[in-house]
Amino acid sequence: MPLDKRDHTKLLCDIGELSGLFEDALSLDGFLQRIVAMIAEHLHCPVCSIYLYYDESQELVLTATKGLNPDSIGRVRMKLGEGLTGLSLKEMRPICERQASRNPNFKAFPGIGEEQYESFLVAPIVRGQTRIGAIVVQNSQKNYFTEEDVKVFRAVTSQLANTIETTKLLMSLNEKAQAATPKPALKELKFVKGRPASEGFAFAEALVLGGEHLFAVANREKINDPCTLEDFRRAVAATEQELEQLQQQIEERLSDVASLIFSAQLLMLKDKSFMDAIENMIRAGVNPPLAILKAVEDYVRMFQKISDSYLREKSQDVRDIGRRLLENLLGKEEAQYDLEDKIIVAEELVPSDALKLSSQKVKGIILLSGGVTSHLSILAKSLSLPLVIADAPELLALKPRTMVLMDAEQGTIYIEPGADIVKNFHEREDLRARLEKLKKEMTPVTSTMDGTRVTLLANINLLGDLKAAREFHAEGVGLYRTEFPFLVRSDFPTEEEQYVIYRKLIEGIPGKEVTFRTLDIGGDKVLSYFHHTKEENPFLGMRSIRFSLKYKDIFAAQLRAILRAGHKADLKIMFPMISSLDEFLEARSVVKQCRDELQAEGIAHHANPAVGMMVELPAVLEIIDELAQEADFFSIGTNDFIQYMLAVDRTNEKVADLYLPHHPAVLRALKKIVEAADRHHREVSVCGGMGDDDRYTAYLLGIGIRRFSIDPKNLPRVQKTISSIDLSQARRLVADILKRCRLPDISKALGSDARDQTGLNPPYR
Ligand code: PEP
Ligand code: MG
Repeated sequence: MPLDKRDHTKLLCDIGELSGLFEDALSLDGFLQRIVAMIAEHLHCPVCSIYLYYDESQELVLTATKGLNPDSIGRVRMKLGEGLTGLSLKEMRPICERQASRNPNFKAFPGIGEEQYESFLVAPIVRGQTRIGAIVVQNSQKNYFTEEDVKVFRAVTSQLANTIETTKLLMSLNEKAQAATPKPALKELKFVKGRPASEGFAFAEALVLGGEHLFAVANREKINDPCTLEDFRRAVAATEQELEQLQQQIEERLSDVASLIFSAQLLMLKDKSFMDAIENMIRAGVNPPLAILKAVEDYVRMFQKISDSYLREKSQDVRDIGRRLLENLLGKEEAQYDLEDKIIVAEELVPSDALKLSSQKVKGIILLSGGVTSHLSILAKSLSLPLVIADAPELLALKPRTMVLMDAEQGTIYIEPGADIVKNFHEREDLRARLEKLKKEMTPVTSTMDGTRVTLLANINLLGDLKAAREFHAEGVGLYRTEFPFLVRSDFPTEEEQYVIYRKLIEGIPGKEVTFRTLDIGGDKVLSYFHHTKEENPFLGMRSIRFSLKYKDIFAAQLRAILRAGHKADLKIMFPMISSLDEFLEARSVVKQCRDELQAEGIAHHANPAVGMMVELPAVLEIIDELAQEADFFSIGTNDFIQYMLAVDRTNEKVADLYLPHHPAVLRALKKIVEAADRHHREVSVCGGMGDDDRYTAYLLGIGIRRFSIDPKNLPRVQKTISSIDLSQARRLVADILKRCRLPDISKALGSDARDQTGLNPPYR
């Protein structure tokens, strides 16, 4: 081919416009394929190949080729310095050979079909000192390439460097995302049975929340559009504004926990090293979108090196900020990755994600791990966010826009449901609306059918729960989980901050008793700012009252805030996870000490609150009388009690079938606790999920429970159930059950007598 037929100018122009081809390319590999085809055509070469270079392995990998055996893509690899291509990249210079096989550095790869192509030209793809890869052209005509060709080829390669680097980055992100979440085939998946964790229904498009989705929003065809430093700064300002708005929205709804929910992301925007890293790259000539992608990748990699849940959470924040910046820089490709109105499918979430997702107005969550009594579920209930937990990894393969119907009453998930199922869903929604009306019929006082008085109290996780508690006539707060405001902050809240929240709680339910449970962190409630080292068995670790007794200053600040807020209120304080009399006495002595200090300081406070304990550990059973002599009251936390009694992790979906409230050991133990409380004239209540579950109401009444502290939304239903139970019958039921030891027999005895009368199942199983 005469040299003048090679149209170098045209090649340079086409390459300049190549980034526009992103649009047509079906995939990233497809895009690279287009590049090699175009170069091969313009240089009239039968062979053109792109090799990408990977720093970690110091290897060049054949990624696209025109002319060589396509099977060799991904297989042909060489080290930096190896072969002519490796040498070219190592020394960062083009190499042109008239007869490649004669060069001692030439490395033959049998089977790739390059034997007849002796003319060889390779140019490295580099940006500054960064090695990206190499492009090779080959021709069977000896002595084919001219000096002019080498120059042009070099220019073409440097023009392409940016685009190819972006492609490489996106490819590696996609690979990582795929490797991180093995996605089983989604053949004909129509229905998945999971467990209901937070009641409600949703019928909406599904969105799988994985690492890759954050980058998928980046408008790929625009990723090489030249942007300026000013464009980037505008995107930063827009992102900041967006986050502040989100923050404000959530603050209006959830004043107690919202304070810092988006702070990590806002902080990233203010983080000098992160921002400088991006700006420096931009100044060095990197296009801003690519600079963002690279900086985010570097940070994520840095965070992921440290295996700790806090940092895992941080890398999500960094990715999220990257997504927002890219969206604001390039515009949203499509609304499909917006979270609003979507059903989110995720492998793993932390409790604060429930707040974030709720503030982003998702319709529901399908979670592949976790347990229905986990604290993420507890928070989802408070946020009225339907949640189903399903051990079904195939759901990760759901394509965007797939319509999903989730029934978080039953725990069922329908994929692209038929019209009949959707109709049934709407009918059930109508039923719910009717039930809403029924709830209004609740009476302020609860009694059994035979007129025995029962006290219904509310469990409060977020201040937002108070509304339902008031509306449904809760007679007080039987459990305020104080840890939630701690969970979503970036540092321990001060005594003053806690005081403000606690005061709002007390004022939110005026004149009624309020039981504060002191900080119960650890287990699945990890403080991002404190739990930097991962514990092997967090549920058996430094958690709950153990934490408070170890860090007495934190404990004392909380107790002071509680005592101050409880001034003139009907105040009760209880300690979680008490395992010994000594622990209880030590915790109580801190209450006394705080009271004395407040007294001495002349600060208004409650001088004599009832001080009780949660019964959550089987160890307590053997020392229950001694504890009853000291504690003013017991509150049975069945969620943990069952977990520890049966050694079944309450957050592990894989053993969920073994988490059995009706296990005879559990039922008999509950009776012993109530008897001990009675012997010592102490109040005893149930504040774990068993109290919300109608199947156990008769049993609990039969053993003498007269105080239930439950999710406020369940108050109407549980009241109705209680009013349908006759106490003498309930006692007979207890006698019958205590004779049984086999689980099916016990299930049968609990049977339909205690069933929910409303037609809706309780959210807790
Ligand atoms: C319990 O363990 O039953 C309980 C009420 O506490 P939590 O669910 O917060 O652990
Ligand atoms: Mg507990």
